[in-house]
Amino acid sequence: MTETRSNDQLSQWDHDHFFHPSTHLGQFARREMGNRIITGAEGVHITDREGNRSLDAFAGLYCVNVGYGRTEIAEAIAKQAHELAYYHSYVGHGTEASITLSRMIAERAPEGMNHVYYGQSGSDANETNIKLVWYYNNILGRPQKKKIISRWRGYHGSGLMTGSLTGLGLFHNKFDLPLSQVVHTEAPYYYRRDDLSQTEAQFTAHCAAELEALIEREGPDTIAAFIGEPVLGTGGIVPPPAGYWEAIQTVLNKHDILLISDEVVTGFGRLGSMMGSDHYGMKPDLITIAKGLTSAYAPLSGSIVSDKMWKVLEQGTDENGPIGHGWTYSAHPIGAAAGVANLELLDRLDLVANAGRTGTHLNAAMAAALGTHAHVGEIRGEGMLCAVELVKDRDDRIFFDPSEKVAPRVVARMLELGVIARAMPQGDIIGFAPPFCLSQTEADQVVSVTHRAITDVLG
Ligand code: PMP
Repeated sequence: MTETRSNDQLSQWDHDHFFHPSTHLGQFARREMGNRIITGAEGVHITDREGNRSLDAFAGLYCVNVGYGRTEIAEAIAKQAHELAYYHSYVGHGTEASITLSRMIAERAPEGMNHVYYGQSGSDANETNIKLVWYYNNILGRPQKKKIISRWRGYHGSGLMTGSLTGLGLFHNKFDLPLSQVVHTEAPYYYRRDDLSQTEAQFTAHCAAELEALIEREGPDTIAAFIGEPVLGTGGIVPPPAGYWEAIQTVLNKHDILLISDEVVTGFGRLGSMMGSDHYGMKPDLITIAKGLTSAYAPLSGSIVSDKMWKVLEQGTDENGPIGHGWTYSAHPIGAAAGVANLELLDRLDLVANAGRTGTHLNAAMAAALGTHAHVGEIRGEGMLCAVELVKDRDDRIFFDPSEKVAPRVVARMLELGVIARAMPQGDIIGFAPPFCLSQTEADQVVSVTHRAITDVLG
């Protein structure tokens, strides 16, 4: 778009008309917080209208996995838009892109997961998952088996059901959520365990025992599915304690409860493995995919359905007619074309392996620079995910009062120093999730800026 508007004009319209998501509305309207108008990006850097350039160490919202400015994807999108911008995918319609992408996803998914339903966002893909779980249990003649277990600190979206699954108070408060069909269990967050004397193995056993107790309390016949991210993302970037998924799956199998692996963040390489489920030996019945599917070049999400569930869904439509679930934009051709080009690029540039390699370097360099800092409680990560948890007192694990806004202040200082990180919404946690094409030199820059910003803010 040609820049015909002045910065002042755009800023005025922004404050007057643009209802920004996840934004403090009053502060924005009163201009107590700034706005930032982004104009371009290349590789791992974004630029704004003021001419500032920042290294984006959060890949947008951990989604621009292949990095910015990839002409291969832009051209695939343009070609698709010229040839066929849209046609629906109801009643057996498709495009070469949507069919090819389905095959490519099935090839990358864990064994026995061969069917993909498309949406536009991670939230709607999870809404689809819950509807499929309910449909499945109705077809199997167990209409009472409907509740979904999610974890505190899990993030699964902002819809009515998915906002309920999300285990963060901010997403419930004043929205009358969570809905009654959702129950929450312990977050697999070893550093924040209540009982500091627990070893990691004991904490894992405790999480599994808590889950089992919840299932017994609610009644196993009422619990349909468990949803979890392989690595807790928005809730704090927390890799699971050792043996966690194995222990959880043992409990789920015992009570015939389906597993939904929410791979909106981990899918397509962020952990250094193609899928987080394979990374941790998970055997899900449904997988949620979104961000990394197109690296955010176009909005597209999906639910990968296991063969086991598929057989029952097929039976359901034989008995009841077509499945009553469809979005206008399911498998949107432009999204599908972006997805095909994105997955090809991941392969061609070996970017998943690079995510593993550079991610390991980033985590190690962060630990070397900040591992003994008086206000750093924990540094943790997996693949191209990293978190630095800030505490008031490291020895006694005393957290800062949220009113001190320590993480937001550190992140604001980092931005002044040219690096974008994210203050995760609950706790003083600085999150990193760079594009997979980050170089080791750029990783070192992220570390040195983080070190400097923490020192500037906390001494
Ligand atoms: N699941 C997970 C694990 C996510 O991280 C997110 C988004 N951050 C979502 C679901 C929701 O995706 P969207 O914002 O595209 O609706």
